[in-house]
Order: sequence, then structure tokens, then C-alpha cells
Amino acid sequence: MSKRHPIIAGNWKMNKNVREAQDYAGELLARVGEVTDVDVVVCAPFTALNALKDDLEESVIHIGAQDLFWGSAGAFTGEISAEMLVDIACTYVIVGHSERREILHETDEEIAKKVKAALKAGLTPILCVGENLAHREEGRALAMVRGQVEKDLMDLPPAELKRVVIAYEPLWAIGTGKTASSQDAQDMCSAIRSTLAGIAGAVADEVNILYGGSVKADNIAELMTQPDIDGALVGGASLDAEGFAQLIENAR
Ligand code: PGA
Repeated sequence: MSKRHPIIAGNWKMNKNVREAQDYAGELLARVGEVTDVDVVVCAPFTALNALKDDLEESVIHIGAQDLFWGSAGAFTGEISAEMLVDIACTYVIVGHSERREILHETDEEIAKKVKAALKAGLTPILCVGENLAHREEGRALAMVRGQVEKDLMDLPPAELKRVVIAYEPLWAIGTGKTASSQDAQDMCSAIRSTLAGIAGAVADEVNILYGGSVKADNIAELMTQPDIDGALVGGASLDAEGFAQLIENAR
């Protein structure tokens, strides 16, 4: 029996204004507001978080941000700290999403600092790792993903490491409609768990590992049957509350 409680996290990316976020929260709450066998998380843009706080703070649905800065306060123009996210009722934060690694050139060193800052403030970081198509075709996917896990979680004691959620998101599957086969996803999630065991021993069994990349209502159930896949990070299919609620239902 798995010791892990499944997580389905939606990542809106750079979508939805305040009004749209409020409408979404009301609808999602009506549909999955009683669901407790899966942890539901909505990761919204910074500008919509306060609206979600009003509607979701007292509910079972968790609020997440999509990024944070590692400093806690001070002269960091344009940045948002972990403490600021806690203040507006966030409990989760995505760290190191591939779009930030690729488009904004975030490095593993920066990502490791963000993971630490999130943990220190009491947030659950959802650390994203994953290979691109070239890595996979050249047989380097495993080495790439292992390297990211090791660098991004460097120096974390096991008690901290077990609070991290990892999302395995192969870049070639994000927003492309191409999902990794559930076997390929399982193989990588299992390799991630062995990497964690190498770093932190037995607590690796307690770490939630999610799959992300074109997850939809009609492929989630099969992914969830895999022993090392503990949920999903969902982009496009999380944008519509009704569709996301169906996906959550199919994951249970
Ligand atoms: P997708 O995005 O579900 O639209 O492929 C997943 C992600 O980038 O987190």
C-alpha cells in the first residue's frame, strides 16, 4: 500500500484575469469541494492569487503559485517571496518549470535556492524536472533528469526532502498533445525515486512524484495505475473548471 496521498495540480500558466479566476474557483468548488482522497491544487498567476484566497482558503482546494524568489525581503524589484505567498494563503509553489528553465534561463543553482526558500516558509514546492526530445533521442533522458534532481535538491536533509513534490514533465510532451506512455512515465518516475533513495534513503518512498505533459481526463486513470506515479501536473486541461473536475474525478 502506498504511503502517498495523490495530488492533482493544475497549472494555469499565464492565463486568467481576476474575474475569470473567481468564476473558476466557484465552479471548481461546487464540483470537487468535497474531494479529500486526492489533494487538488490550483496554481495561478500572482495577480489571481488573492481572488483565489477569498474563495478557496477555507476549502479543501489548495492554492499554489507558479514561481517565487529565494530572498525573503529587500531590494529585489519585481520578485515575490515565499513569505508573501504564505500571506495570501498559498500552500504550494511550482519551482523550475521547464518554461522558466528554457525561456527565462533559470539554472539549477537558482532552482535549488527557490526550493529551499519555499520549504523554509512552509510551502510545498512542486519541483519540475524533465528531458527534451534531443536528450531522449540520444539516450540521455535518464542522466539529464537524475542530474536535475540531484542538483535541485542538493544539501536538503531527508526530513525536508520528503516535503518536496516532484513533477516529471518531459518537454516534448508539454502542450503538444503527446503524452509519454504510462510505462515510460512510470520508468522515469521510478528512476527519480531511486535517485531520491540514493540521496535520502527510505524517505524516498514518501515523496509524491507527479507526471505532467498533456495529461487529460481520458488518460489520467491509466497513469494513476502506475506504482510510482502519485498524481499529475496539468496545464491546458486545467483551464476549464468543469474539464479539470472531470479529470480529478477520473484520477480517483
Ligand atoms: P500541459 O502542460 O498539460 O498543457 O501539457 C503541463 C505543464 O506544463 O505543467
